[in-house]
Amino acid sequence: MSTGLIWFKNNLRIEDNSALAEACKENGKVIAIYFFDPRHFEFNEFGFKKTGKFRAKFLIETITELKENLADLNIPLYTYQEKPEKCLPEFIEENSISRVYLQEEWTSEEQIIISKVQKEVSEDIRFASFYDQFLFHPEDIPYPLKDIPKVFTEFRKKCEAKVSVRQCVSTPKSLNDENFNIKNNTEIPGLKDLGFEEFEQDSRTAFPFEGGAKQARKRIQQYFWETQNLAQYKQTRNGLLGEDYSSKLSAWLANGSVSAKQVYWEVKKFEKEITKNQDTYWLIFELIWRDYFKFISLKHGNKIFKIDGILEKDLEWNDDETAKQKWIKGETKEPFVNANMKEIAATGFMSNRGRQNVASYWAKELKQDWRVGASYFESLLIDYDVHSNWGNWMYNSGVGNDPRDRKFNIKRQAERYDPDQKFQDLWLKE
Ligand code: FAD
Repeated sequence: MSTGLIWFKNNLRIEDNSALAEACKENGKVIAIYFFDPRHFEFNEFGFKKTGKFRAKFLIETITELKENLADLNIPLYTYQEKPEKCLPEFIEENSISRVYLQEEWTSEEQIIISKVQKEVSEDIRFASFYDQFLFHPEDIPYPLKDIPKVFTEFRKKCEAKVSVRQCVSTPKSLNDENFNIKNNTEIPGLKDLGFEEFEQDSRTAFPFEGGAKQARKRIQQYFWETQNLAQYKQTRNGLLGEDYSSKLSAWLANGSVSAKQVYWEVKKFEKEITKNQDTYWLIFELIWRDYFKFISLKHGNKIFKIDGILEKDLEWNDDETAKQKWIKGETKEPFVNANMKEIAATGFMSNRGRQNVASYWAKELKQDWRVGASYFESLLIDYDVHSNWGNWMYNSGVGNDPRDRKFNIKRQAERYDPDQKFQDLWLKE
């Protein structure tokens, strides 16, 4: 009887999970593993922890629920606070694993780790990886990767015309009890183990994020079905305050507690059963943006992390520590920027409107190294997604996919989106 190992990464769910489904189909015995890689909690070259406390907490909650959901399928989840390449080869050998199943990751840090593991194990061990983070499967899009257009609209229109979103993959049936009778002494680390103090959620938060697929489902239930806010999404999505202005699904999408396809098919169900309009379509439109940045990262590789970006533009960038501290603390001359920066520091979240403004201010107004801003977001954001974050930062900094290379007029933005200053008052009035 062969043993399959699911190596979980940012696909932390049991539904619509190709790696899990294939592992259960092809093996008599299945086990799962997740690494809290210490490198993800170290300081990066810009002086920020790669993963800050908000995402760390969300991740712990996610893995805790994943372990329970896998246990319902009689699949044990082993968790290690260790570098995968250090402990996985031995684990594979000790457990007589013949196949490893994982989500395909192409950024260089991830690739290096996977190939280090592969080098340490027998050549007979098969690694099967799946592009499970997309709405449009990379095999289905009407372009070779090298020809992904520079402009989003071109990409979107052709994909919408030519690609059908695949159906969700079925959740496997529970394996027999024997599969679970494997000794598993591993424990999920707590916040302290990852180097953080316990903390309370700020009462001003736009949304009380909690990790795990169940919470993602609850949010969909609330946003789509109970309040039917989805039916006004396009009109409200530029809001700044409270739970209702946008879906708040980003954090679960980012670590794969829910898939883009699951959200897509739920929108389709809503359109069939409740209403179909510009607003319901617009959520799909935004999911296509998410896909687009993934395709841009697939096409351009490490260029998305370079100061010249994918446009290879040789612009002048400053590196001013005082400016950085003022931006981070929300002490710039722009109250609207300050309010948003205080929000992200206190909650790990910021609206899309806020993100565009603070990024434009940092990179285009102050002309500071945009990668500092992107790294700060990487550390703080509860919904950090490597492709969306670096892709949007390039876009807003003039080295990415914005054909118009716009700079935001912050004062005008504040007047338009926070006319009675409720948002600024919330964050700036003590
Ligand atoms: P909604 O408005 O409800 O959108 C639905 C979903 O569509 C989102 O959950 C997200 O998955 C996707 N989406 C929406 N807008 C974008 C966009 N511009 N780019 C890519 N996907 C999008 N989003 C992340 O998920 N992770 C990041 O690390 C991230 N960093 C960003 C950095 C900057 C500088 C900017 C300008 C935007 C960034 N975004 C990022 C995109 C966007 O701001 C967030 O996805 C959105 O604010 C999350 O809130 P929501 O789930 O309520 O979004």
